[in-house]
Amino acid sequence: MNALVVEDERNLADAICQILADEGTRADVTYDGPTGLSMARTGSYDAIILDVMLPGMDGLELVRELRRSGISTPVLMLTARTSTQDKVNGLDAGADDYMTKPFESAELLARLRALTRRTGDVMIEESNFGDLTLDLTTHDLRCGTKSVHLSGKEFEVMRMLMSSSARVVSKRDLLNRVWGGNSEASENSVEAYVSFLRKKIKHVESTVQITTLRMLGYRLEVIA
Ligand code: CA
Repeated sequence: MNALVVEDERNLADAICQILADEGTRADVTYDGPTGLSMARTGSYDAIILDVMLPGMDGLELVRELRRSGISTPVLMLTARTSTQDKVNGLDAGADDYMTKPFESAELLARLRALTRRTGDVMIEESNFGDLTLDLTTHDLRCGTKSVHLSGKEFEVMRMLMSSSARVVSKRDLLNRVWGGNSEASENSVEAYVSFLRKKIKHVESTVQITTLRMLGYRLEVIA
């Protein structure tokens, strides 16, 4: 397991990393909100332990932004406060569980185990549009009995189009979400990947197509 710890109290952050390390879990640590968000956005963690009060951007805003980017990594929020409203705010923002400081290491580990088990369930989920099914675990795109494997970027682009259902997704949004805001990639890269995807959709003989809306972007449509 690979965890991200976002906590500005360095002693506590280091203690959490030590607790995780003792259990064989690798943890990256950061002490501020914006860095936490950009690390979390890579989607490469199995769980995120997130403090509420953080410099730069608080934990609630961070988890909200993360969910908006389509990243569903389980988040365990930490807070010094105990009020029910704080708990509700955290869960509303998109956190999966909540823990009040101070806590025992056994409780932290138990909650993390529960959260990552839940991800196990989510992992078998699929995304559907028309007669297409995107397997979120294997990255296979299926239609009936035909199936084709998608590369990393193809998968991310397809997942975003499918999760937007029939709504238009702009090239800029695809570029930011799939390649990242600071990437060297251009809208040409998006066009290239959409064209790869069109070939693969054709290969599985789906009735779904990626329609280009000039100046606006793309959306999925079922063709008669
Ligand atoms: Ca704090």
